[in-house]
Amino acid sequence: MPELPEVEITRRQIAPLLVGRTVAAVVTTASSPFFLTSPGTLRRRLSGRRFERLDRIGKYLVAGLDGGAQLLLHLGMTGQVFAAGVRSLRLLSSTRGGALTPEGQAGGFVPDRHTHLRLHFDDGGPDVFFRDVRKFGRVELLAPGASSPRLERLGVDALAARAGDLAAAVRRRRAPIKAVLLDQSVLAGVGNIYADEALFLSSIRPSRPANRVTKPQCEQLLAAVQRVLHRSLETGGASISDFVQPSGEDGRYQDERLVYGREGEPCPRCHTPVVRTVIAGRGTHYCPRCQR
Ligand SMILES: [Zn+2]
Repeated sequence: MPELPEVEITRRQIAPLLVGRTVAAVVTTASSPFFLTSPGTLRRRLSGRRFERLDRIGKYLVAGLDGGAQLLLHLGMTGQVFAAGVRSLRLLSSTRGGALTPEGQAGGFVPDRHTHLRLHFDDGGPDVFFRDVRKFGRVELLAPGASSPRLERLGVDALAARAGDLAAAVRRRRAPIKAVLLDQSVLAGVGNIYADEALFLSSIRPSRPANRVTKPQCEQLLAAVQRVLHRSLETGGASISDFVQPSGEDGRYQDERLVYGREGEPCPRCHTPVVRTVIAGRGTHYCPRCQR
């Protein structure tokens, strides 16, 4: 699932393919919950607009258009944003993927039924696609001056947060500390993998009530969150299921995971088998000996 590092890598790579270009036409799939703005409105309002910037807020990509409108993209669980010509096995349809070889993609990506948004540009250069197999992603066009409740709900970006931000949030909460880390209104951008890794690095058990995490531990935990996010950015993000960089390359962060997805494997510190449980509805991995 794309979290802060994957969305930021997508932003960095796709920005040069969007910014400065003018949309000539928009092709979408049929109306569905994927489209917070109807496909018809997107086609009408995006055509002729030029992309001026591409920012990231938490796990959202926010593209600024000339005239002041903004296009919001959320990658959901399996969203992929890339340009025409890219080759990756992760871009094969989940239903056909098993049967196709890399050679089956020799001509590059061919838009399929999971390609919900397709932008053509007036310079005749490569199209940009937003593909999402499981369709938890979202697209919304904000009129000039309009704000989005989705963005307003977000807390401080996890990379910009200071220890005080986390300490203030945990004081009032008895929910498990992991649930607080995943709460986008506290730290925007942190997701499941990075929460588990940061809690391991801080020796804090994910189920510990948040208000029992001390102030020094909050400082340590936030530093660990930022360390794993930065390391994931350096390694190109985590390609555990569908994430692929816009360049078509896989990220490599998954090779460095200490506990996430390693149920039954020895803890890298004490060799006790890593345990899996469910917290806040998410698979959670920790060492029962190192993390208290
Ligand atoms: Zn351990």
